[in-house]
Amino acid sequence: MQRSPMKKLILAAMLAALPAAAQAGPPPARPKLIVAISVDQFSAELFARYRPTYRKGLRTLWRGIAYPVGYQSHGGTETCPGHSVILTGRYPAGTGIVANAWYDAAGNDTYCVSVPGQSDPKARGPQNMRVTTLGDWIKTAEPGARTFAVSAKDRAAITMAGKHADGVYWWEDGTGFTTSPSAGPATPAVTGPAGAFNAALFAQWRAAPPTLWPRPSKRCAALQKPYVFGEMPITGRVPPEMAAGATDGADFLQSRHFQDIVRVSPTMDGLTADFAIDLIRRERLGHGPATDVLAVSFSGTDYVGHRLGNGGAEMCVQQEAVDRAIGRLLKAVRAQRVPVMVMLTADHGGTDAAERQHDHDGQAARVDRTAFAKRLDADLRQQLGIDFDPFLGNDPEQLYIDPRADKALEARIRAAAIAWLRQQPEVREVHDSGEIAATVIAPGTPPDRLTNLQRLKLSYDSERSPDIVAVFAERSSFGIPRKTGDYVAGHGSVWNHDRQVPILFWWPGVKRQDRAAPAQVVDIAPTLAAIAGIAPPVPVDGQCLDLGGNCPK
Ligand SMILES: [Zn+2]
Repeated sequence: MQRSPMKKLILAAMLAALPAAAQAGPPPARPKLIVAISVDQFSAELFARYRPTYRKGLRTLWRGIAYPVGYQSHGGTETCPGHSVILTGRYPAGTGIVANAWYDAAGNDTYCVSVPGQSDPKARGPQNMRVTTLGDWIKTAEPGARTFAVSAKDRAAITMAGKHADGVYWWEDGTGFTTSPSAGPATPAVTGPAGAFNAALFAQWRAAPPTLWPRPSKRCAALQKPYVFGEMPITGRVPPEMAAGATDGADFLQSRHFQDIVRVSPTMDGLTADFAIDLIRRERLGHGPATDVLAVSFSGTDYVGHRLGNGGAEMCVQQEAVDRAIGRLLKAVRAQRVPVMVMLTADHGGTDAAERQHDHDGQAARVDRTAFAKRLDADLRQQLGIDFDPFLGNDPEQLYIDPRADKALEARIRAAAIAWLRQQPEVREVHDSGEIAATVIAPGTPPDRLTNLQRLKLSYDSERSPDIVAVFAERSSFGIPRKTGDYVAGHGSVWNHDRQVPILFWWPGVKRQDRAAPAQVVDIAPTLAAIAGIAPPVPVDGQCLDLGGNCPK
């Protein structure tokens, strides 16, 4: 409809007379750039704890439309599944990415972004993912649209990028940002700028060794407290003892120790932001003929959470770092001066090391994963009279029966293992794959009402899921740390501390609003698709979240 100049003036006057709230802009229709951010292991608890302290990018983002307690609704809360959900709108049962790794029918350990049939063991790509992403959908609908993804982790970048990305980058120890021809184009136009970025970075590090852990602020320093995690005493100080000596020696750049601490430090998210900013500028993202998609996954919070827990000074320093990194990223995005839509969520939540968590809840306990699995194997060998370990690997949460067992023996192993597991005090529930497969979920069941069995159903794939799932007590930490750098805490369970994550939407002009509704991460892709002006060309599990008139009527 054409409006006369007078009508336009009247409309403008009416708008000006409205209270400020109504002036807040709806989400931009068909923005030129969608930025999808994942903060790895960013639990709703961590977000709530640090929300008042953010001063940079995270402060900007939480002052948009915020679902402080959103859900990765499924039960297998790991990195690869969680990232596969974010831009596909499907639960892991639909994406096929049910875990970081699974055993195939022949008993081969299969990494989620390994490439089937590829002889190069370093090949990485989305071939195991059964669905496409938001970036793929927009590229199909709109010629000229582009999709890029950046992360420290290959599995995060690849599963957010999808099947037809224009550039997919992750960090490789000793190399810097890299890609694989199976993940996306590996032409000089894609690899050249990464090579230049890496060369400049390593030259800078060679000239002056980097300070991987900054000095803690007063607020963070106040959290420094010694603990014994498992059999490993830590001082709780920043920098942590695991970082000591990482930049010593003339050839520190080649040392495994340095490469490890680059990841397990607030430095990693800064590098990820630097690389993403470089990408935005050189590709002039947002200045193409259609909607560009940039996915960025910040891994530092997860690395720090696993190795140092999420309740100490180290995580405090890491939260300041990821806040700054996102702030710089947003500045580069806004400098493009095009309509943008920004979304932030997480692949999964997490919990602190059991010993420190126990100080708060009097409950959390540590499970000696290896000893537990060995006990199960040994007891079943004796009970069933078999001369091999009945289960592959030593993960007592996800049990795969060794394919050497024939059908009859497999059934006996199943029955014996389930009975054995149900007698263990640290185990809360035990579920057989058949039981999980047969579980029904009433349409529209909100994520906070799903039973543990239903959560597991959302992670179930008949070819890839384990034969038996054991649900351990809430906030269990797995493994006994013995030496500096061992894992002290993690995630992966069906419990809410691993499922609840923030979901934030922000665009210039958004009016701040917190929403209590339990939105799901599967809702993100259909929501962003609607904002981009397209309908998902494939079925999705989530639904469009109304951020201000963006959803189809
Ligand atoms: Zn993790």
